[in-house]
Amino acid sequence: QQQQLQSLRTLSATTLDGKTIEVAANIGRPRDAQPALEAGAGGVGLFRTEFLFLDRATPPSEEEQVEAYTTVLNTFAAKTVIVRTLDIGGDKSVPYLDLPHEDNPFLGVRGIRLCLEPEHQHLFRTQIRALLLAAQTQVTSLWIMFPMICDLRELRQARAFVAETEAQLLQEGKLAAPVLSLLRLGIMIETPASVWVLDQLAQEADFFSIGTNDLAQYTLASDRMNACLNELQRPFHPAVMRTIAHIVRIAHQYQRWVGMCGEMAGNPRASAFLLGLGIDELSMEAGSLNAVKQAIRGTTIPQALEIVERVLAADSSAAIEDILS
Ligand code: PEP
Ligand code: MG
Repeated sequence: QQQQLQSLRTLSATTLDGKTIEVAANIGRPRDAQPALEAGAGGVGLFRTEFLFLDRATPPSEEEQVEAYTTVLNTFAAKTVIVRTLDIGGDKSVPYLDLPHEDNPFLGVRGIRLCLEPEHQHLFRTQIRALLLAAQTQVTSLWIMFPMICDLRELRQARAFVAETEAQLLQEGKLAAPVLSLLRLGIMIETPASVWVLDQLAQEADFFSIGTNDLAQYTLASDRMNACLNELQRPFHPAVMRTIAHIVRIAHQYQRWVGMCGEMAGNPRASAFLLGLGIDELSMEAGSLNAVKQAIRGTTIPQALEIVERVLAADSSAAIEDILS
């Protein structure tokens, strides 16, 4: 069976009746890019750039980051690479940031909130500079994604920050020509707030990616690290499944690309459901690619649609697990 899975590496994620969906990898370091490509990833659906910033005494320099992003972009050549901007907060200890203690760090100054704070903007500035400089080489394949967005105000602030950074680079002569109009700027959908203003966000975000880890945590008010909450942490809660269905529907209503990069995307039991919703991409740990491809290659769109209908009518995680198994 291992061999059978291995042979899937070069095959696309295409259903028995011919519908293909993109499958991509989540990476945390430039060195993960080549193995992910070799494992059959059609792109990078989530580059968690915070790993470049952790476990060190000083933040990575502009040059270091340009090199990191360029490496990933070059490895994936024309394929899409979604780079998520720094997502850290009070739950991570970052030696060179003097982050105050927070009682609820997951509800605190995290992700885009931290990046837009005046005292931390220098970190965000360096990262955006590096991304725009790296984009010069492979412009069409870089998509930049902001984490933890709740509303249009934050998205506008983040977009304005990127535009301002581009203007600086042009003025300094470090950028030879504007790149921004060639890039896509999108957001993670991982807060319930973003779900309920998705129509508004769709006006100004170029794409969406569903982060089921945080989305489930915040939807269920259930700490993703708290082992006592395992009943709520079962992977397919009805509230979460309905939320996901709503997101895909609204995104497509506004002609926005919507992928998924949370853990559910790498769970082959969820593949038919997600396919039935019409999601545009599933991005996962490289080790899950084959199993997800296999699940998709064994299903048809009518089957997937029927699963969607049954899942959305189910009233417990256990019932949904039964339907999906
Ligand atoms: C998520 O929240 O689902 C996600 C992909 O982001 P992270 O796990 O890095 O918070
Ligand atoms: Mg998240």
